[in-house]
Amino acid sequence: MKNCLIVDDSRVIRKVSRHLLEGMGFAVTEAADGKDALEQCTAQMPDVILLDWNMPVMSGLEFLGHLRDQEGGDQPRVVFCTTENDIDHIRAAIDAGADEYVMKPFDRETLHVKLQLVGMV
Ligand SMILES: [Mg+2]
Repeated sequence: MKNCLIVDDSRVIRKVSRHLLEGMGFAVTEAADGKDALEQCTAQMPDVILLDWNMPVMSGLEFLGHLRDQEGGDQPRVVFCTTENDIDHIRAAIDAGADEYVMKPFDRETLHVKLQLVGMV
């Protein structure tokens, strides 16, 4: 069973994402911001991370920079989530080490395709 860490400050989005991911057979953990996520990754690296862009305390982009600098931090596949249809955001995320991106709100099919693209399903 692969582990997926959902990083999002919205409890509703975490709940919906968890439901979708568990339905695909993932073991799911959650973090409400980048700092929480980084602490969880230090304890145990997940296989894949669903990462929100806008969060308090530490943004998705900041988190990603720290993650990729950590030992073993190159391992998780990272799918960046953004609500803004902004090519600059997507490029910044990919430059920072994201493997894929997904536009919110996403449905099961869209998420499944993105997870296939990063080799997780
Ligand atoms: Mg957010």
